[in-house]
Amino acid sequence: MEKIKMTTPLVEMDGDEMTRIIWKMIKDELLLPFVELKTEYYDLGLPERERTKDKVTYDSAYANQKYGVAVKCATITPNKQRVEEYNLSEMWKSPNGTIRAILDGTVFRAPILIDSIKPAVRNWKKPITIARHAYGDVYKATEYRVPTEGKAELVFTDKNGNESLRKTIYDFECPGVLQGQYNKDSSIRSFAHSCFNYAIQTKQDLWFATKDTISKQYDQTFKLIFQEIFEADYKTKFEELGIEYFYTLIDDAVARVIRSEGGYIWACKNYDGDVMSDMVSTAFGSLAMMTSVLVSPNGQYEYEAAHGTVTRHYYRYLKGEQTSTNPMATIYAWSGALRKRGEIDGLDKLVDFANKLEQACIDTLNDGIMTKDLVGLVVEGTSVTSVNTLEFIKAIRERLEAKLA
Ligand code: NAP
Ligand code: MG
Repeated sequence: MEKIKMTTPLVEMDGDEMTRIIWKMIKDELLLPFVELKTEYYDLGLPERERTKDKVTYDSAYANQKYGVAVKCATITPNKQRVEEYNLSEMWKSPNGTIRAILDGTVFRAPILIDSIKPAVRNWKKPITIARHAYGDVYKATEYRVPTEGKAELVFTDKNGNESLRKTIYDFECPGVLQGQYNKDSSIRSFAHSCFNYAIQTKQDLWFATKDTISKQYDQTFKLIFQEIFEADYKTKFEELGIEYFYTLIDDAVARVIRSEGGYIWACKNYDGDVMSDMVSTAFGSLAMMTSVLVSPNGQYEYEAAHGTVTRHYYRYLKGEQTSTNPMATIYAWSGALRKRGEIDGLDKLVDFANKLEQACIDTLNDGIMTKDLVGLVVEGTSVTSVNTLEFIKAIRERLEAKLA
C-alpha cells in the first residue's frame, strides 16, 4: 500500500514519562506504516528543556505560529520535587503556559464518547466542549486581609499620573478581606474570536454565560464584547451553517447544560471554566478520554491530551511492569492534528486517514477491548477484554489496516 503524503510539516512536540513511551508506540504502530509523516520535531521532554534553558519550548511555539498546526505530548511542569529528580538549574515554567501565551489561544476540551460508557448525566448524548478563558480575573488578582477598621477604595491613575477614577469599595467597621481583579479588552476579544472560529470549524452552537446582572461593568464587558464581535464578524457565517450563538446568565447556563443532550461549545470565564471543566469531564467518565486543543484567535491549532504524563504508570514501566495506560486522548491529538493539516492543505487522503484512525479506535472499544481504566466504567453486561497499552494499540492497528485496505 502506498503511504499517504503530506505537504506542509506538522509541528511535533514530544514530552515526558509514560506519554512519551506511548507517543513512540502510536507513531510506530498507527502512523508511520501508513503516512509519510512530515513533522518538524521539538523535544519538550524535561531533559531537553533543561539543556536548552527552555529555548526549545519557545522555538516550538514559534513553529506552531509558522506552520499553523501542532501536536503535543504531555509534559512535566516542574515543581520542587522535579527540580531535584531531574537536577534542574531552574524551575522551568509550564510548557502549556508558555505556548498558550505566545499563541494567545483558548483551550477547548471535549470528551470521546463510546456506547458502553454512559455519562453520569443520563441525557448527555453528545460531547460538551468547554472553552476556558485562561487569563486574568481571580487568577491574577491582588488581595489582602484588611487588618482593622478603615476605608477601602478603588483608584485608577492614568499614565500621566492623574487620578481619574475613585470609588469606595467598603467602609470597614471591623477586619475583613479585599481583592482587586482585572481583565483586558484585548484578551477578551481574543477569547471571543477563538470561540467563534472554533464553533464554525466544528459546526457547533456556542454558549456563553456570565453574571452581568450583578456585575454591571466587569461581566457586562464580557457580554458586550462577545455580542459586538459576533454581530460584526460571525453572524452571517453562523446563519449559513445553521448554528447559534446563545448568551445567558451563568446559573441559567448550568441548569440548561444539565438538561441538554450536549453537542455544543460552552465558553466560560476563567473561574467558571476551571470548575465546570472538572465537573463535565468527571461526569463524562475519564480523564484518559478527554481531548484538548489550543486555538489561537487567528486560527492556529495545537492538539494534545487533557491528561498529564501519567507518572505513576511510568514508575511501574521503569520497573519492567506492563502498564495498561490509555492512549486514546493522545491518539486523538494526532488524528485531530493530521485532520486539520489535511483540511488546510487540501489533502483528502490525510483527512480520510484521520477519520479512519478514530473510527478504528472506537471500533476497538466497542468490541470490548480496552485499557484497565475503562473496564470499571462500562455499563453492566458489557463483555470486556482488559489489555495493556501495546495490545490495545495493536488491536486498533488491525482494524485500521482493514479500513485502509
Ligand atoms: P496525570 O498524568 O493526568 O495522571 C493522574 C492519574 O490519572 C494517573 O495516575 C492515572 O490514575 C489517571 N490517568 C491519567 N491519564 C491516564 C491514561 N491515559 N490512562 C490511564 N490512566 C490515566 O496527572 P498527574 O499525575 O497529576 O501529573 C503527572 C505529570 O503530568 C505532572 O508532572 C504534571 O506536571 C504533568 N501534567 C501535564 C499536563 C500537560 O502537559 N498537558 C497536564 C496535566 C499534568 P491511576 O494511577 O489511578 O491509574
Ligand atoms: Mg480545575
